[in-house]
Amino acid sequence: MLAAVVRPAIVQDPIPFGARRKNEMVAYSRRHYGDATWHLKPRVIVLHYTDSGTYRSAWSTFAGDTASLGELPGTCAHFIVSQDGVIHQLVPTTVRCRHAIGLNQAAIGIEMVQVGGRSAHWSDQQILHRTRQIRAVVALVRWLQATYGIATGDVIGHAMANGSRFFRDDEHWRNDHDDWLAVDVKQLRRML
Ligand SMILES: [Zn+2]
Repeated sequence: MLAAVVRPAIVQDPIPFGARRKNEMVAYSRRHYGDATWHLKPRVIVLHYTDSGTYRSAWSTFAGDTASLGELPGTCAHFIVSQDGVIHQLVPTTVRCRHAIGLNQAAIGIEMVQVGGRSAHWSDQQILHRTRQIRAVVALVRWLQATYGIATGDVIGHAMANGSRFFRDDEHWRNDHDDWLAVDVKQLRRML
């Protein structure tokens, strides 16, 4: 039984996601998931880091709606958590957003502002040890879990996406990202 979970403070900072981008998401979903819709029913949470140093640069990348791997819509995330612990929401959790191959039909994407470094493990650990940022991430994940009934085992890192029980890609695409390795996600799960 979950204890009452408080909704954390969330700053709304939406990226443009009008009819054109929604239609792009419908076409992407048809090709990759066999269902032509932009509607999301969240079942998984995928953790990412931005590989860049500022919130604003990540926001601009996602707002741009530029093709990735030759397809539209552009990549995005539902949330970005800045290093000082501010949770920004870019896209409603009812809308599919392209952040992890094979899981955009099922997953909420949370980005954390963090530069790449000597290794993905190093970058994950920077976040885990940045008190204000990791506290905000944990509060957000706990609230999303409670809201959508998402099991802790379905809180995963981008590096784990190909192994998710919800993974599906009809074009046989696979993720090649190493943000949020299993060993580091295990550490985060213990905080939930
Ligand atoms: Zn990622």
